[in-house]
Amino acid sequence: MHELNSRIAGFHKLGIQGRLDILKTKCNLDSTAITGMLNTGNLPPETADHLIENVVTTMNIPVGIATNMKVDGHDILVPMATEESSVVAAVCNAARQCYDTGGFATSMSGSHMIAQIQLVNITNPHFCRITILEKKEQIKKLCDDCDPVLLSLGGGFQDIEVRVIDSASGPMVITHLIVDTRDAMGANAVNTMAEQLAPLIEQWTGGKVYLRILSNLADRRLARARATWTCEAIGGTAVRDGILSAYHFAESDPYRAATHNKGIMNGVSAVVLATGNDTRAVEAGAHAYAARNGRYASLTHWEINASGDLVGSIEIPLAVGLVGGATKLHPMAKTNLQILGINTAQQLARVIAATGLAQNFAALKALATTGIQKGHMALHAQNVAMMAGAVGQQIHQVANAMIAQGTVRIDVAHQILQDL
Ligand code: NAD
Repeated sequence: MHELNSRIAGFHKLGIQGRLDILKTKCNLDSTAITGMLNTGNLPPETADHLIENVVTTMNIPVGIATNMKVDGHDILVPMATEESSVVAAVCNAARQCYDTGGFATSMSGSHMIAQIQLVNITNPHFCRITILEKKEQIKKLCDDCDPVLLSLGGGFQDIEVRVIDSASGPMVITHLIVDTRDAMGANAVNTMAEQLAPLIEQWTGGKVYLRILSNLADRRLARARATWTCEAIGGTAVRDGILSAYHFAESDPYRAATHNKGIMNGVSAVVLATGNDTRAVEAGAHAYAARNGRYASLTHWEINASGDLVGSIEIPLAVGLVGGATKLHPMAKTNLQILGINTAQQLARVIAATGLAQNFAALKALATTGIQKGHMALHAQNVAMMAGAVGQQIHQVANAMIAQGTVRIDVAHQILQDL
């Protein structure tokens, strides 16, 4: 570890160059590192500097295109931003195998977000609950006055629900504002409404409001997708039954379900990131939804239909937007939306759900047949070759030699590179 003082007064007030100068001295960065940091790729430094705080550089992640995707009868190219090998290939593969049965059919429950207002210090929570529910019309007006733009787009306040919960600090009355946020993810929109409403709730009830923020369990914004893979297309009944068994394993065991859903999120988060959306919001929502019945389980379902074919379906909260956050600011997010050719946040969420389902199919098929490593190996071997210092042609040479030997390891890569 460095021996340095992390207290840097006024670091945030400096420009990127000023921050880099300090970093260079404190962390002994050489000129190659600084040159790399000055290259911010396709995100202009001034944009990066406005997106987050204390910016010194950007970090590029590859964007790959998932081909073969057909969603609701339309062929579509899906940009995926991920650092993990095999993720894009897996989606291409899965989508090819269900292309002839029509690809993915999708739908969405709506674009409703929930903001929570936490009321405490009350002795009569049920009385408070009814008092708040009485004020629905006043609450609607307050929320809609907060965001006339949403209202003009057909969105805005939809409803309230008020719950009494028991906690270690005593009873709490939790008000949910349910707001249609249209093409925005909606966090800022609903948080503003919750903050505006809080003093009124205190006034009506005599209690104290603490938290006023959205819930990432966006279960009123569920994207759904389904697809059929014929036995013939996937290689027979043994493959089908292996996939089914893998799914049943995930349904019965949270240790497996975590990895199963991680695979789904490989697809989901890659499209969320490529479109400048909030990956953590979607991931938190997905995992909370997977545990909604009291035990963490699969986000997908796999069954056999009357013809003996494999059918898969997914239902996942997807709070994504086309406006707000980085979606309109990152030039690549805009380009990726153009590649997708979609016009609404709901369309985006539906494509993302389809991508998650495709990813899950590919992972289950690989696991139930050849194992995950075979498909991973070619790209993984190239990564290991690069780690060992291979460049240009050497990358393929070293990777191929390791695959031929059946051992993909850094020490083996070093040896092969030396021999070359
Ligand atoms: P935002 O406030 O930047 O934009 C949304 C606003 O844009 C709407 O309120 C509306 O006034 C306007 N708008 C214009 N055209 C619109 C259209 N077609 N549809 C809908 N609204 C339109 O963004 P946001 O979506 O409210 O917030 C998203 C950001 O909040 C993300 O960056 C996210 O990371 C961040 N955030 C997330 C959390 C969380 O997930 N827990 C918490 C806080 C902030």
